[in-house]
Amino acid sequence: MSFENLNLHPSILKAIAEAGYTEPSPIQAAAIPEVLAGHDLMASAQTGTGKTAAFILPALQYLTEPSQSKSRGPRILVLTPTRELATQVNDAARKYSAQMRVKTVCILGGMPYPLQNKLLSQPVDILVATPGRLIDHLERGRIDFSRLEMLVLDEADRMLDMGFIDDVEKIAAATPASRQTLLFSATLEGTIAGLAKRLLKDPKRIQMAAQQAKHENIEQRLHVVDDLAHKNRLLQHLLTDAEVRQAIVFTSTKRDADMLAEDLFAQGHQAAALHGDMNQGARNRTLTRLRNGAIRILVATDVAARGIDVAGISHVINFDLPKFAEDYVHRIGRTGRAGSHGIAVSFASGKDVLHLKRIERFTGHAITPHVVPGFEAKRPMRSGAPSPAGKRGGYGNNDRRGGYEGRPNGNRDGYSNRGGQNRGTGTGRPASRGR
Ligand code: AMP
Repeated sequence: MSFENLNLHPSILKAIAEAGYTEPSPIQAAAIPEVLAGHDLMASAQTGTGKTAAFILPALQYLTEPSQSKSRGPRILVLTPTRELATQVNDAARKYSAQMRVKTVCILGGMPYPLQNKLLSQPVDILVATPGRLIDHLERGRIDFSRLEMLVLDEADRMLDMGFIDDVEKIAAATPASRQTLLFSATLEGTIAGLAKRLLKDPKRIQMAAQQAKHENIEQRLHVVDDLAHKNRLLQHLLTDAEVRQAIVFTSTKRDADMLAEDLFAQGHQAAALHGDMNQGARNRTLTRLRNGAIRILVATDVAARGIDVAGISHVINFDLPKFAEDYVHRIGRTGRAGSHGIAVSFASGKDVLHLKRIERFTGHAITPHVVPGFEAKRPMRSGAPSPAGKRGGYGNNDRRGGYEGRPNGNRDGYSNRGGQNRGTGTGRPASRGR
């Protein structure tokens, strides 16, 4: 299959060629014809699979025809859970529309209202937004959705996890019933299925290969650690490896991200933190420095790092395991971008056994243990029992909340007031950080 077979406008094909893409990714090949045929769509596809182009390219195809309406409001609306993802979708839309006259606007929380008001008062083709801020503008009557043709819910599962369900439904209700709706999500079951039933009309369903088939280009390693001091020593050692071009180190909390980044910086690394307590300007500056190579080690929390697409990231290091198995998949997907080889390292101690099993059940395979001579753990982690990987059919979906049923909405990084309370590994941080 080539892009030429997808019946896209020559100006879109030209931009795709300039982006260096030679053929559609599987999600693009599956989704684009369905969207262009006018169907609603629900698709499970991870970030890193090319899902953004899977909805932006057909959206641009619509924009090659003038709107029948006199309204100046957006014709395409993309909702994303985080500011970073919104910025990336906006950048992708601009890249793929480089040969067209398309006005894209990005509306994010944390940015000044007057500028956004100005942007929204002008004609808009594509609007990319996070739900909370968009609702503010909607309630103030600043957005005219009367000519909206397509609504895209990107990473819909995450929007639900973050407590945006009411906002998303309110926004959808303000758009024309005639719209086409596309929903992209890591899982299509559970609450997502309910949301899809309410917002989509007779959708086509695209389920990309199971989780375990993905990330084949990412080598996953497990390092058993005894305690925090052991983690710190091992991290220092791993970061001295010249093979580590750029790395994202994940911590459980914003506070730990700050502290670890400071420690690494003090050790002479080009390190910086990225988390939801930083204002948007600081987050953008950090991401720019990561992109241009001025930062080698980014210490981040889950939400802030979601959607980061930087080709130089050779390693992802889970200093703390993610709380939710699905976040593991998102984290490791920050490396091995666009087909390159990546290495994902996870630190885990005896206290993390159950946690690790959940992750392995979700991804469908056991993470291979690695030992660095001189950095062996004193206590073995597992009793030699076989990994549970592969025992359950339909990996992941049933397991997303395994053991965490009580998770309230809205407790994610950047949306919580829990500060540094969450102790992901029980290793006694930060008191024992040795600072
Ligand atoms: P996404 O899953 O949308 O975040 O895209 C992941 C990465 O794949 C981005 O860096 C895109 O620029 C890149 N990409 C998207 N489509 C293609 C394609 N057909 N061929 C090569 N790279 C692509």
